[in-house]
Amino acid sequence: MSDEFKTLQKFDAGNGREGLLHSLPVLEKQGFGKLSRLPISIRIVLESVLRNCDGKKVRRKDVETLANWNARKPANEEIPFVVARIVLQDFTGVPLVVDLAAMRSAVQRLGGDPGIIEPLVPVDLVVDHSVQVDFFGSAAALRLNLEMEFKRNRERYQFLKWGQQAFKTFGLIPPGIGIVHQVNLEYLAKGVLSTQLSTPNSQLFYPDTLVGTDSHTTMINGLGVVGWGVGGIEAEAGMLGQPVYFLTPQVVGVNLTGRLREGVTATDLVLHITQLLRARKVVGKFVEFYGEGAASLPVPDRATIGNMSPEYGATMGYFPVDQESVNYLRATGRTEEQCLAFENYFRAQNMFGMPGEGEIDYSEGVKVDLGEVQPSVAGPKRPQDRIDLPALGKTFRTLLEAPVADGGYGKKNGELGALHLVDLNNSPPRDTDMPSTDKADPGIDPGEELDKFEMVANRPTPDTAQELEASPGDPFHHGRSQIGHGSVLIAAITSCTNTSNPSVMLAAGLLAKKAVERGLRVDPSVKTSLAPGSRVVTDYLDKTGLQRYLDKLGFNVVGYGCTTCIGNSGPLHPKIEKAINDYDLIAASVLSGNRNFEARVHQNVKANFLMSPPLVVAFALAGRVDVDLSRDSIGKDKNGKETYLRDLWPSLHEIREAMQSALTPETFRKLYRDFANQNPKWNEIPSSAGEVYQWDEKSDYIHEPPFFKHFSMEPGHIAEIRGARALGIFGDSVTTDHISPAGAIKPTSPAGQYLRSRGIKPEDFNSYGSRRGNDLVMTRGTFANVRIKNLMVPGTEGGVTKYFGKTDAKDKGEVMSIYDAAMRYQADAVPLMIFAGHEYGTGSSRDWAAKGTRLLGVRAVVAASFERIHRSNLVGMGVLPMQFADGTSGQSLGLDGSEIFSVTGLSDSIQSGQKVTLEITGRDGKVRSVPVTLRIDTPIEIDYYRHGGILPFVLRQLLTQQPGGLR
Ligand code: SF4
Repeated sequence: MSDEFKTLQKFDAGNGREGLLHSLPVLEKQGFGKLSRLPISIRIVLESVLRNCDGKKVRRKDVETLANWNARKPANEEIPFVVARIVLQDFTGVPLVVDLAAMRSAVQRLGGDPGIIEPLVPVDLVVDHSVQVDFFGSAAALRLNLEMEFKRNRERYQFLKWGQQAFKTFGLIPPGIGIVHQVNLEYLAKGVLSTQLSTPNSQLFYPDTLVGTDSHTTMINGLGVVGWGVGGIEAEAGMLGQPVYFLTPQVVGVNLTGRLREGVTATDLVLHITQLLRARKVVGKFVEFYGEGAASLPVPDRATIGNMSPEYGATMGYFPVDQESVNYLRATGRTEEQCLAFENYFRAQNMFGMPGEGEIDYSEGVKVDLGEVQPSVAGPKRPQDRIDLPALGKTFRTLLEAPVADGGYGKKNGELGALHLVDLNNSPPRDTDMPSTDKADPGIDPGEELDKFEMVANRPTPDTAQELEASPGDPFHHGRSQIGHGSVLIAAITSCTNTSNPSVMLAAGLLAKKAVERGLRVDPSVKTSLAPGSRVVTDYLDKTGLQRYLDKLGFNVVGYGCTTCIGNSGPLHPKIEKAINDYDLIAASVLSGNRNFEARVHQNVKANFLMSPPLVVAFALAGRVDVDLSRDSIGKDKNGKETYLRDLWPSLHEIREAMQSALTPETFRKLYRDFANQNPKWNEIPSSAGEVYQWDEKSDYIHEPPFFKHFSMEPGHIAEIRGARALGIFGDSVTTDHISPAGAIKPTSPAGQYLRSRGIKPEDFNSYGSRRGNDLVMTRGTFANVRIKNLMVPGTEGGVTKYFGKTDAKDKGEVMSIYDAAMRYQADAVPLMIFAGHEYGTGSSRDWAAKGTRLLGVRAVVAASFERIHRSNLVGMGVLPMQFADGTSGQSLGLDGSEIFSVTGLSDSIQSGQKVTLEITGRDGKVRSVPVTLRIDTPIEIDYYRHGGILPFVLRQLLTQQPGGLR
């Protein structure tokens, strides 16, 4: 191990152990910058750069640059950050393991040793994204959903089990255990890690740092762990020993003052912060919270705030390590040895304790008074659009009538209040265009083949029958309902953002208890669900007796996974879907998630509001969002008396009392011990063995991707793009979900048609997210989101474009699917381009958004601005991102897709951020030259681009370094 700067020091690691660390105070004494005034997050990255400084991958200059970080004007240098570990979820993890398997196959074909492809840092994959809410409102829902999940995902899980045995440093947490970020917070994160050096009794300690293939990896920032979301492609490179490169960031210091008021939750706080920081434009920056307000927040509240960093745009939302952080490790069952090492390490590095005002130099400062935070929700389309709770009804009604162009729904006055009767007791035949899998499952015991819609119609109150008898005039209690604009049709307690936070989960339970005691109930048209991020939640909701009240309102546990948060909300009742379509209803969902853009939650539910778990229960009871819950009644109690939110809302004292009686370290230890053995369904899955995967052409889940098909040891040259056509011209805020949807596969879409041609029935399609191990499906699904609007075909939604190649309608273009057009252009060897507005690629990190773009034949994307991860993923796949000058866009240039494009000024000697020229030849033959900026941001990205992406770059490096070379 190198010690370039002679900073290796001994320290007391606790319990009589002596440890070693690379000391930042010693580096400071040597005159390398004022380290004790650097933001803590920068110091932790600096420790990694210092420790890994070997003169090659990490140079002395990198240490010096970061040690001299200038708050006001950070150097425009890339930092090689070697992280301690990597976390994956299954949607992104499966394609990543597929790529590793494909690399092993490629190395074997080239005559090399496939074993050189091996994760060099520990990797943990949590299977959490695949469970869907098919069954709900019943005690059987959890088991039935799990069984359905295993049936649908068997091939993927078999493949993952192969990966588990093939790669030494690859850990796997099977389905039914929890959500990746909550499991990370409660179990995987150690705070500080150590490794045994070659000399005896020398244990080197270093901070726990990570990247994850999920944008909400930042949740772990709440525990003082530095980490953020990266694309699968970068994570892959990280696994293979490449540093994660990023530009020296600005750090925004957010001074939290005051205390949260009674009735205000951590969810309200995070929505407040999201709105505020979004407006402060923190995209691409670190955010570091500090001050007495930050010190007053428990770690779960900090984690909720860290979780939503992608929503406010920051790379991280970091909280420094203090006594609260150590207390959390202790309370969640980590060993005393770990807790002591964590505290002592940070003390020895002079990084322990929440900084106060003036102690750290930040690039800019923001002050947030916690006492000013109000109960609120956010939506209906963006998480940063916060609405004070009392204003929700009015805001919704205004949006209902506002023009579509202004973000409204364009409804006419006369239709606003109309309600439509739906009889949920007589189900019509299922619509095959529905998002799959709502049929009885032959794999399920016939005795258990409950109709989930019956379950919800007969909501499982113990005395349902008597109540129905007692209120024959009430249509709702007979499983009939009336729905209209603003009706809540989905109410989901979901997402690790909130389910990791006992205070809001217990508040939901306490609110449910008071509602049940008053005899309130939820309308059967509301699809209710509770999907905790770990089994710890169930343990404390059971211990406090609150789960049974949630059950009575239909919030039975449906699974331990992402469910509604990732769009796996499952189908609605066919009659409800029909009513939505027949009357073009703007129905609502209420969820404790972090994302709500169109079609994320459910394809037919257009207004989606984020809120705390107790508010989810309250809105489920109210059944509508066009209300002011601070004044309007939620419903009548059993005595006919109006009940208000204030009658149900639990006090801080009640929540604290419940927390004290419910959370013990032993619970965490018990539930995270031998969890693999606690899941017999996982253990029953057979797995293949061997270091090279035997690809099965019959599989429609796992397929060898073509990334290394024509692989050679020599990279190509960077050349100008000539004679390109537009495949899509988009407006602002195109999300990665628009580019590569994760949800349902439409039978009529190219992916749906392909699957049908393989003999797969629509009900067995599963979701795009679950088919990410198959490039043949994913390429067809690229730009296939039903809501994407290609301006080349005005007035349409969905993945369509105009083909201007060899066609009779050459001048006007022939309308066809984006996939079909791309394949025809590929056959004609025509390069393709995408044009887009601001924030292109916003949303969850999604490597298939870049992979699919590449496999469609797109060579370059020109946008007004890019989301951070998607931009780097494009480079990582060898697709060139370029940016218009301010005020210019495809629309301002009047592009309609009939033009021919060239990009001049590209060569092997390009520089990051260089200006090049986009030449546009119109149908009339006139040529316009538009300056654009290369969004290849760092020198290493030039290498990636020249090699055709990160994977070929890494593979060439590994093959070059292989002892003995290729056979
Ligand atoms: S629950 Fe939501 S935020 Fe958490 S990992 Fe799943 S999809 Fe991401």
